[in-house]
Amino acid sequence: MSDSPETTKVALVSGGTRGIGRGVVLRLAADGYDVSFCYASNADAAAELEKEVLALGRRVFSQQADVSDMAAVRSWVSGTEEALGPIDAAVTSAGITRDNPLLLMKDEDWQRVIQVNLDGVYNVCRTVIYEMMKRKSGSIVNLSSVAGVYGNATQTNYSASKAGIIGFTKSLAKEVGRYGIRANVVAPGFIDTDMTSALNEKVIEQAKNQIPLRRVGTVDEVADLVSYLVADRASYITGAVLQIDGGIHL
Ligand code: NAD
Repeated sequence: MSDSPETTKVALVSGGTRGIGRGVVLRLAADGYDVSFCYASNADAAAELEKEVLALGRRVFSQQADVSDMAAVRSWVSGTEEALGPIDAAVTSAGITRDNPLLLMKDEDWQRVIQVNLDGVYNVCRTVIYEMMKRKSGSIVNLSSVAGVYGNATQTNYSASKAGIIGFTKSLAKEVGRYGIRANVVAPGFIDTDMTSALNEKVIEQAKNQIPLRRVGTVDEVADLVSYLVADRASYITGAVLQIDGGIHL
């Protein structure tokens, strides 16, 4: 771990080892944050990412933690506070899909998506909020999806979880604004990550045709928006749902 100036802020990112979460970890480290991230299972990817953060001159902490498990989240957060100090910013990116039309939806796929995507956001926010309120400062960005705003066939479970995140975050913003804490949502459209590369080429081509910018988005574009929203540059933005989707909502 490298030395960190007194003023360095600490950011927590769930689902850090891949995709958008990974991009956010690296972007926030480049912005000057010390960063803690959790991940589902890939310890090698976590070790690699730790090295990349250290190479940017920032301190880093990571822990395998299933965000749907409150005890695991508490352990990750307290480990972070011990290693890096109090948490200034929290970004929840951990998320999964288990797509199927409702008629074919398996009960366990409904439950698992809600547990990881929605309970996971609750678990992280519930765990960090007390210290933020005590310090009268903090910033939270939760990753939703355009599917949570407009719905998406075959994604009743995912859309419900992502719509839930929007209601959760707006309510939280109303509750904790008076403590100087901001809470916002980033709702991406189609972003090039492992989550979307699982789709077949035809589906991706069809999606591109519905996007006014005629391409999928990049992790860096989403990380850039998260970087803006968590920072003091966005000091008067709270309870917002910012879509980053190439205009697919138009
Ligand atoms: P991804 O599949 O590439 O990465 C997901 C990350 O979450 C991984 O690091 C994985 O380890 C972690 N994760 C999964 N389950 C976990 C669990 N139970 N506990 C802890 N960590 C867990 O996904 P992505 O495309 O980077 O998506 C990131 C977020 O953005 C998700 O919430 C997703 O719903 C949302 N999103 C993505 C897109 C897109 O097009 N990629 C669009 C809209 C919203």
